[in-house]
Amino acid sequence: MSRIAYVNGRYVPHRAARVHIEDRGYQFADAVYEVIAIANGRLVDGGGHLDRLERSLRELRIAEPMTRRALEAVMAEVIRRNGIRNGSIYMQLSRGVAPRDHPFPANPRTQVVMTAKHGAPPSPKIAEDGVKVITQADIRWSRCDVKSVSLLPNILAKQAAREAGAYETFMVDRDGMVTEGSSTNAWIIDGDGALVTRPASNAILDGITRRRVIDLARQSGIKVVERPFSVDEMKRAREVFLTSTSAYVTPVTQVDDRTIANGKPGSTTLALRERYLAFMAQVA
Ligand code: PMP
Repeated sequence: MSRIAYVNGRYVPHRAARVHIEDRGYQFADAVYEVIAIANGRLVDGGGHLDRLERSLRELRIAEPMTRRALEAVMAEVIRRNGIRNGSIYMQLSRGVAPRDHPFPANPRTQVVMTAKHGAPPSPKIAEDGVKVITQADIRWSRCDVKSVSLLPNILAKQAAREAGAYETFMVDRDGMVTEGSSTNAWIIDGDGALVTRPASNAILDGITRRRVIDLARQSGIKVVERPFSVDEMKRAREVFLTSTSAYVTPVTQVDDRTIANGKPGSTTLALRERYLAFMAQVA
């Protein structure tokens, strides 16, 4: 089945999908996006992702291009036309096409692009072995709560991880506290056995997986504390892991040159991963 993309009201072959060179997403990164996992043909936490999309649009004063119901219909059609059972859908909404000028154009028309792809879940080997993470200064702006396509610092951070043979880079604020990964949220199990993650604020993207894992942990009777933690505390933590739409719950067994605990994925991490996989299976 050949891939189909949605571009402003049209379903077109993926290889022929185009936006205008004066799309503000292209010229200014004046755009927001979402990535939603698809399991057995259904969206995983679709409602949470669309809530966050609407919030991102509101925060940047980009007009909603259509009702939520219409957007859901387009998403369903993109999934159907691409025959996706397991994978993900990507959507990007830009402020519009206009002659290049910084202020908002007079009558912007929000541009909508969607693609979907097949994808296998992360390999079980990653869960068995855990992954390595490096740390770097967080050089991003102070509205990381908005899911904007302006991802240059995140790209540099992810590339640094690749070059260091690591899976992810956790970014660190000026006080030495971990903010989040370049495309993931960061977690530890602290000395008291509590699950700790940074509170949602302008300093991080409030991950939909993050929220779901907080819920699942509480339901399992695990104490959850939303507070910042330092790189030092993380390196001495009982367990470290990361979450995202595409990484689910992934154990971290090494941070920089430091092995976490005994170098094996932690039991709470693995239990939460199982809970998350069960949640995904039940959505579908
Ligand atoms: N932080 C950042 C910077 C991200 O890009 C992502 C992935 N979109 C996340 C966290 C995780 O968010 P989610 O669980 O919604 O995928």
